[in-house]
Amino acid sequence: MIDLRSDTVTKLTDRMRQKMFEAEVGDDVYRDDPTMRKLEELAAEMLGKEEALFVTSGTQGNQIAVLVHCSLGQEIILEEGSHILRYEGGATSAFAGIQPFPIKGERGSMSALDIEAAIRGSDIHEAETGLICLENTHNRAGGTVTSPERMKEIYAVAERHHLPIHLDGARLMNAAVALKRPMTDFTQYVTTVQICLSKGLGAPVGSIIAGSSEFITKARKWRKRLGGGLRQSGILAAPGIIALTEMMDRLEEDHEHASWLAEQVNTTPLLRVVGEVETNILMMDVSETGLTSKQFVDLLKENGILANAFAPTIVRLVTHYDVSKEAIEQTANVLKQITSEKLVK
Ligand SMILES: *Cc1c(COP(=O)(O)O)cnc(C)c1O
Repeated sequence: MIDLRSDTVTKLTDRMRQKMFEAEVGDDVYRDDPTMRKLEELAAEMLGKEEALFVTSGTQGNQIAVLVHCSLGQEIILEEGSHILRYEGGATSAFAGIQPFPIKGERGSMSALDIEAAIRGSDIHEAETGLICLENTHNRAGGTVTSPERMKEIYAVAERHHLPIHLDGARLMNAAVALKRPMTDFTQYVTTVQICLSKGLGAPVGSIIAGSSEFITKARKWRKRLGGGLRQSGILAAPGIIALTEMMDRLEEDHEHASWLAEQVNTTPLLRVVGEVETNILMMDVSETGLTSKQFVDLLKENGILANAFAPTIVRLVTHYDVSKEAIEQTANVLKQITSEKLVK
Protein backbone atom coordinates (compact mmCIF):
# COMPACT_ATOMS: atom_id res chain seq x y z
CA MET A 1 0.00 0.00 0.00
CA ILE A 2 1.13 3.56 -0.77
CA ASP A 3 0.03 5.52 2.28
CA LEU A 4 -0.67 9.18 1.50
CA ARG A 5 -3.18 9.71 4.34
CA SER A 6 -0.79 11.77 6.44
CA ASP A 7 2.87 12.40 7.21
CA THR A 8 2.17 10.92 10.66
CA VAL A 9 2.28 7.38 9.21
CA THR A 10 6.07 7.26 8.81
CA LYS A 11 7.80 4.35 10.53
CA LEU A 12 10.92 5.30 12.43
CA THR A 13 14.23 4.91 10.65
CA ASP A 14 16.88 2.33 11.51
CA ARG A 15 19.04 5.09 12.95
CA MET A 16 16.20 6.16 15.21
CA ARG A 17 15.71 2.59 16.45
CA GLN A 18 19.43 2.30 17.08
CA LYS A 19 19.51 5.55 19.07
CA MET A 20 16.48 4.44 21.11
CA PHE A 21 18.30 1.25 21.95
CA GLU A 22 21.42 3.11 23.06
CA ALA A 23 19.71 6.06 24.82
CA GLU A 24 20.91 6.97 28.28
CA VAL A 25 17.81 7.43 30.46
CA GLY A 26 16.62 8.64 33.88
CA ASP A 27 13.37 9.72 35.51
CA ASP A 28 12.33 12.80 33.58
CA VAL A 29 9.77 13.91 36.18
CA TYR A 30 12.84 14.36 38.42
CA ARG A 31 14.53 15.87 35.33
CA ASP A 32 17.08 13.09 35.47
CA ASP A 33 16.86 11.99 31.85
CA PRO A 34 19.99 13.24 30.04
CA THR A 35 18.71 12.38 26.56
CA MET A 36 15.49 14.30 27.14
CA ARG A 37 17.42 17.29 28.45
CA LYS A 38 19.57 17.20 25.34
CA LEU A 39 16.53 17.16 23.06
CA GLU A 40 14.85 20.01 24.91
CA GLU A 41 18.00 22.16 24.84
CA LEU A 42 18.50 21.49 21.16
CA ALA A 43 14.86 22.31 20.37
CA ALA A 44 14.96 25.54 22.40
CA GLU A 45 18.02 26.64 20.47
CA MET A 46 16.56 25.77 17.07
CA LEU A 47 13.36 27.63 17.93
CA GLY A 48 15.13 30.63 19.43
CA LYS A 49 13.40 30.36 22.80
CA GLU A 50 14.75 30.18 26.37
CA GLU A 51 13.41 26.70 27.05
CA ALA A 52 11.53 23.82 25.47
CA LEU A 53 9.44 20.95 26.77
CA PHE A 54 8.67 17.55 25.25
CA VAL A 55 4.94 16.75 25.17
CA THR A 56 3.19 13.58 24.11
CA SER A 57 1.36 15.07 21.13
CA GLY A 58 0.76 18.25 19.19
CA THR A 59 -2.69 18.52 20.70
CA GLN A 60 -1.28 18.29 24.21
CA GLY A 61 1.29 20.98 23.37
CA ASN A 62 -1.26 23.37 21.91
CA GLN A 63 -3.66 22.85 24.79
CA ILE A 64 -0.95 23.38 27.40
CA ALA A 65 -0.12 26.68 25.68
CA VAL A 66 -3.78 27.73 25.78
CA LEU A 67 -4.00 26.73 29.46
CA VAL A 68 -0.91 28.73 30.39
CA HIS A 69 -1.78 31.83 28.38
CA CYS A 70 -5.51 32.12 29.09
CA SER A 71 -7.87 32.25 32.03
CA LEU A 72 -11.46 31.08 32.34
CA GLY A 73 -14.00 32.87 30.16
CA GLN A 74 -11.49 34.39 27.79
CA GLU A 75 -11.44 34.16 24.03
CA ILE A 76 -8.73 33.06 21.62
CA ILE A 77 -8.48 34.43 18.11
CA LEU A 78 -7.70 31.75 15.54
CA GLU A 79 -8.25 30.84 11.90
CA GLU A 80 -11.58 29.15 11.19
CA GLY A 81 -9.95 26.06 9.67
CA SER A 82 -7.29 25.76 12.37
CA HIS A 83 -6.37 22.46 13.98
CA ILE A 84 -6.97 23.85 17.48
CA LEU A 85 -10.55 24.71 16.53
CA ARG A 86 -11.40 21.74 14.32
CA TYR A 87 -9.38 18.74 15.37
CA GLU A 88 -8.65 18.84 19.08
CA GLY A 89 -11.92 17.47 20.38
CA GLY A 90 -13.17 20.79 21.70
CA ALA A 91 -10.31 20.75 24.20
CA THR A 92 -10.10 24.54 24.54
CA SER A 93 -13.57 24.63 26.08
CA ALA A 94 -13.30 21.24 27.81
CA PHE A 95 -10.07 22.07 29.64
CA ALA A 96 -9.27 25.78 29.51
CA GLY A 97 -12.87 27.06 29.65
CA ILE A 98 -12.26 29.56 26.89
CA GLN A 99 -14.16 30.19 23.67
CA PRO A 100 -12.72 30.45 20.19
CA PHE A 101 -13.18 33.56 18.04
CA PRO A 102 -12.59 32.22 14.52
CA ILE A 103 -11.53 34.44 11.63
CA LYS A 104 -11.49 33.49 7.98
CA GLY A 105 -7.99 33.63 6.58
CA GLU A 106 -6.75 33.68 3.02
CA ARG A 107 -5.37 30.19 2.37
CA GLY A 108 -5.05 29.80 6.12
CA SER A 109 -3.34 33.12 6.79
CA MET A 110 -5.22 35.71 8.83
CA SER A 111 -4.48 39.37 8.16
CA ALA A 112 -3.18 41.62 10.93
CA LEU A 113 -6.10 43.94 10.22
CA ASP A 114 -8.73 41.22 10.76
CA ILE A 115 -6.99 40.09 13.93
CA GLU A 116 -6.91 43.58 15.36
CA ALA A 117 -10.60 44.02 14.61
CA ALA A 118 -11.37 40.78 16.49
CA ILE A 119 -9.65 41.81 19.73
CA ARG A 120 -12.34 42.33 22.33
CA GLY A 121 -12.94 42.86 26.01
CA SER A 122 -13.28 46.59 26.57
CA ASP A 123 -17.09 46.33 26.72
CA ILE A 124 -18.84 44.54 29.62
CA HIS A 125 -20.75 42.30 27.16
CA GLU A 126 -17.62 40.92 25.58
CA ALA A 127 -15.32 38.04 26.41
CA GLU A 128 -11.78 39.30 26.74
CA THR A 129 -9.20 38.19 24.19
CA GLY A 130 -6.46 36.20 25.91
CA LEU A 131 -4.44 34.78 23.03
CA ILE A 132 -3.87 34.84 19.29
CA CYS A 133 -3.19 31.43 17.70
CA LEU A 134 -1.49 31.01 14.32
CA GLU A 135 -0.94 27.82 12.32
CA ASN A 136 2.05 27.44 9.97
CA THR A 137 1.98 25.55 7.72
CA HIS A 138 -1.81 25.51 7.69
CA ASN A 139 -3.09 21.96 7.43
CA ARG A 140 -6.69 22.43 6.32
CA ALA A 141 -5.77 25.14 3.83
CA GLY A 142 -3.42 22.60 2.17
CA GLY A 143 -0.01 22.95 3.82
CA THR A 144 0.14 26.66 3.10
CA VAL A 145 2.93 28.89 4.38
CA THR A 146 2.51 32.19 6.22
CA SER A 147 5.58 34.36 5.64
CA PRO A 148 7.61 35.79 8.52
CA GLU A 149 6.71 39.22 7.13
CA ARG A 150 3.00 38.56 7.64
CA MET A 151 3.75 37.17 11.09
CA LYS A 152 5.68 40.32 11.93
CA GLU A 153 2.60 42.44 11.16
CA ILE A 154 0.51 40.26 13.46
CA TYR A 155 3.19 40.48 16.13
CA ALA A 156 3.00 44.28 16.02
CA VAL A 157 -0.75 44.10 16.65
CA ALA A 158 -0.25 41.66 19.53
CA GLU A 159 2.41 43.89 21.09
CA ARG A 160 0.16 46.92 20.83
CA HIS A 161 -2.58 45.06 22.71
CA HIS A 162 -0.24 43.22 25.11
CA LEU A 163 -1.42 39.83 23.83
CA PRO A 164 0.63 36.63 23.55
CA ILE A 165 0.81 34.68 20.29
CA HIS A 166 0.96 30.88 20.16
CA LEU A 167 2.11 29.26 16.93
CA ASP A 168 0.75 25.81 16.11
CA GLY A 169 3.84 24.90 14.12
CA ALA A 170 3.10 21.18 13.80
CA ARG A 171 4.67 21.56 10.34
CA LEU A 172 6.76 24.69 10.88
CA MET A 173 9.74 22.72 9.55
CA ASN A 174 7.95 22.44 6.21
CA ALA A 175 7.38 26.20 6.14
CA ALA A 176 11.05 26.85 6.95
CA VAL A 177 12.27 24.45 4.27
CA ALA A 178 9.82 25.83 1.68
CA LEU A 179 11.08 29.40 2.16
CA LYS A 180 14.68 28.26 2.79
CA ARG A 181 14.75 30.20 6.05
CA PRO A 182 15.55 29.13 9.61
CA MET A 183 12.66 28.40 11.98
CA THR A 184 13.75 31.37 14.11
CA ASP A 185 12.72 33.73 11.28
CA PHE A 186 9.16 32.67 12.11
CA THR A 187 9.37 32.07 15.85
CA GLN A 188 10.85 35.49 16.63
CA TYR A 189 7.32 36.80 16.12
CA VAL A 190 5.53 34.48 18.52
CA THR A 191 5.48 34.06 22.29
CA THR A 192 5.27 30.27 22.22
CA VAL A 193 5.43 27.56 19.58
CA GLN A 194 4.56 23.89 19.18
CA ILE A 195 6.29 21.65 16.63
CA CYS A 196 5.60 17.97 15.86
CA LEU A 197 8.48 15.51 15.83
CA SER A 198 6.26 12.72 14.57
CA LYS A 199 5.07 14.13 11.26
CA GLY A 200 7.45 14.82 8.39
CA LEU A 201 10.47 14.38 10.66
CA GLY A 202 9.58 10.74 11.23
CA ALA A 203 9.94 10.34 15.02
CA PRO A 204 7.50 7.84 16.54
CA VAL A 205 6.05 10.04 19.29
CA GLY A 206 5.96 13.58 20.53
CA SER A 207 5.97 17.29 20.07
CA ILE A 208 7.94 20.19 21.50
CA ILE A 209 6.62 23.40 22.98
CA ALA A 210 8.97 26.30 23.47
CA GLY A 211 8.89 29.75 25.04
CA SER A 212 10.29 31.70 27.97
CA SER A 213 11.55 29.88 31.08
CA GLU A 214 8.56 31.23 32.96
CA PHE A 215 6.21 29.77 30.34
CA ILE A 216 7.92 26.38 30.42
CA THR A 217 7.76 26.21 34.23
CA LYS A 218 3.99 26.67 34.05
CA ALA A 219 3.72 24.35 31.05
CA ARG A 220 5.57 21.61 32.90
CA LYS A 221 3.00 21.79 35.68
CA TRP A 222 0.09 21.63 33.23
CA ARG A 223 1.71 18.70 31.47
CA LYS A 224 1.89 16.87 34.80
CA ARG A 225 -1.75 17.70 35.57
CA LEU A 226 -2.76 16.30 32.19
CA GLY A 227 -0.88 13.08 32.86
CA GLY A 228 1.97 13.91 30.53
CA GLY A 229 4.84 13.71 33.01
CA LEU A 230 7.02 10.90 31.65
CA ARG A 231 9.67 8.78 33.33
CA GLN A 232 12.49 7.17 31.25
CA SER A 233 11.44 9.16 28.21
CA GLY A 234 14.96 9.34 26.80
CA ILE A 235 13.94 6.48 24.53
CA LEU A 236 11.48 8.92 22.92
CA ALA A 237 13.90 11.84 22.99
CA ALA A 238 16.58 9.90 21.11
CA PRO A 239 14.61 9.61 17.84
CA GLY A 240 13.47 13.21 18.42
CA ILE A 241 17.09 14.34 18.31
CA ILE A 242 17.58 12.50 15.01
CA ALA A 243 14.36 14.10 13.74
CA LEU A 244 15.65 17.62 14.43
CA THR A 245 19.25 17.12 13.35
CA GLU A 246 18.98 14.78 10.36
CA MET A 247 15.45 14.77 9.00
CA MET A 248 14.66 18.41 8.32
CA ASP A 249 16.55 19.15 5.13
CA ARG A 250 15.10 16.15 3.35
CA LEU A 251 11.58 17.60 3.65
CA GLU A 252 12.43 19.33 0.39
CA GLU A 253 12.12 15.95 -1.30
CA ASP A 254 8.55 15.58 0.03
CA HIS A 255 7.75 19.04 -1.34
CA GLU A 256 9.17 18.12 -4.76
CA HIS A 257 7.10 14.93 -4.78
CA ALA A 258 3.93 16.85 -3.90
CA SER A 259 4.46 19.52 -6.53
CA TRP A 260 5.30 16.91 -9.20
CA LEU A 261 2.12 15.03 -8.29
CA ALA A 262 0.18 18.31 -8.44
CA GLU A 263 1.29 18.82 -12.07
CA GLN A 264 0.12 15.30 -12.86
CA VAL A 265 -3.25 15.88 -11.19
CA ASN A 266 -3.77 19.12 -13.10
CA THR A 267 -3.12 17.36 -16.41
CA THR A 268 -5.51 14.54 -15.50
CA PRO A 269 -9.06 15.04 -16.83
CA LEU A 270 -11.74 15.49 -14.13
CA LEU A 271 -9.20 16.18 -11.40
CA ARG A 272 -7.95 19.52 -10.12
CA VAL A 273 -5.59 20.68 -7.40
CA VAL A 274 -7.25 23.10 -5.00
CA GLY A 275 -5.12 26.23 -4.84
CA GLU A 276 -1.41 25.59 -5.10
CA VAL A 277 0.87 23.06 -3.48
CA GLU A 278 3.36 24.93 -1.29
CA THR A 279 4.75 22.10 0.83
CA ASN A 280 3.84 18.41 1.25
CA ILE A 281 0.04 18.54 1.25
CA LEU A 282 -2.06 18.27 -1.89
CA MET A 283 -5.80 18.93 -1.83
CA MET A 284 -7.51 17.39 -4.85
CA ASP A 285 -11.01 18.27 -6.03
CA VAL A 286 -12.76 15.18 -7.44
CA SER A 287 -16.22 16.70 -7.98
CA GLU A 288 -16.03 16.47 -11.79
CA THR A 289 -15.72 12.68 -11.57
CA GLY A 290 -19.24 12.59 -10.15
CA LEU A 291 -17.88 10.73 -7.15
CA THR A 292 -17.75 11.82 -3.55
CA SER A 293 -14.34 11.98 -1.91
CA LYS A 294 -15.28 8.92 0.11
CA GLN A 295 -16.06 6.92 -3.06
CA PHE A 296 -12.90 8.18 -4.71
CA VAL A 297 -10.81 7.18 -1.70
CA ASP A 298 -12.36 3.70 -1.79
CA LEU A 299 -11.40 3.39 -5.47
CA LEU A 300 -7.84 4.46 -4.65
CA LYS A 301 -7.70 1.85 -1.91
CA GLU A 302 -8.70 -0.88 -4.35
CA ASN A 303 -5.71 0.27 -6.38
CA GLY A 304 -3.23 0.17 -3.51
CA ILE A 305 -3.32 3.81 -2.44
CA LEU A 306 -4.49 5.21 0.87
CA ALA A 307 -5.71 8.83 1.00
CA ASN A 308 -8.00 10.94 3.17
CA ALA A 309 -11.51 12.06 2.25
CA PHE A 310 -11.04 15.55 3.61
CA ALA A 311 -14.24 17.30 2.57
CA PRO A 312 -17.26 16.02 0.56
CA THR A 313 -15.42 16.34 -2.77
CA ILE A 314 -11.85 16.98 -1.61
CA VAL A 315 -9.25 14.25 -1.22
CA ARG A 316 -6.07 15.00 0.73
CA LEU A 317 -2.74 13.47 -0.32
CA VAL A 318 0.32 13.97 1.90
CA THR A 319 3.87 13.11 0.88
CA HIS A 320 6.46 11.97 3.43
CA TYR A 321 9.64 10.01 4.12
CA ASP A 322 8.09 6.60 3.46
CA VAL A 323 6.81 7.55 -0.01
CA SER A 324 9.37 7.21 -2.79
CA LYS A 325 9.36 8.90 -6.20
CA GLU A 326 8.32 5.54 -7.69
CA ALA A 327 5.33 5.43 -5.36
CA ILE A 328 4.36 8.96 -6.43
CA GLU A 329 4.65 7.96 -10.11
CA GLN A 330 2.50 4.91 -9.39
CA THR A 331 -0.06 7.20 -7.72
CA ALA A 332 -0.17 9.46 -10.79
CA ASN A 333 -0.72 6.40 -13.00
CA VAL A 334 -3.58 5.16 -10.84
CA LEU A 335 -5.25 8.59 -10.89
CA LYS A 336 -5.07 8.69 -14.70
CA GLN A 337 -6.39 5.14 -14.92
CA ILE A 338 -9.33 5.72 -12.56
CA THR A 339 -10.41 8.90 -14.32
CA SER A 340 -10.08 7.47 -17.83
CA GLU A 341 -12.39 4.64 -16.78
CA LYS A 342 -14.86 7.28 -15.59
CA LEU A 343 -14.59 9.04 -18.96
CA VAL A 344 -15.32 5.84 -20.92
CA LYS A 345 -18.39 5.07 -18.81
C1 LIG B 1 -1.07 17.09 13.46
C2 LIG B 1 -1.33 18.47 13.90
C3 LIG B 1 -1.36 18.81 15.25
C4 LIG B 1 -1.15 17.82 16.39
O1 LIG B 1 -1.73 16.62 16.25
P1 LIG B 1 -1.48 15.39 17.25
O2 LIG B 1 -2.12 14.29 16.52
O3 LIG B 1 -2.13 15.74 18.52
O4 LIG B 1 -0.01 15.24 17.42
C5 LIG B 1 -1.55 20.13 15.58
N1 LIG B 1 -1.71 21.06 14.64
C6 LIG B 1 -1.67 20.78 13.33
C7 LIG B 1 -1.81 21.87 12.33
C8 LIG B 1 -1.50 19.46 12.91
O5 LIG B 1 -1.47 19.19 11.61
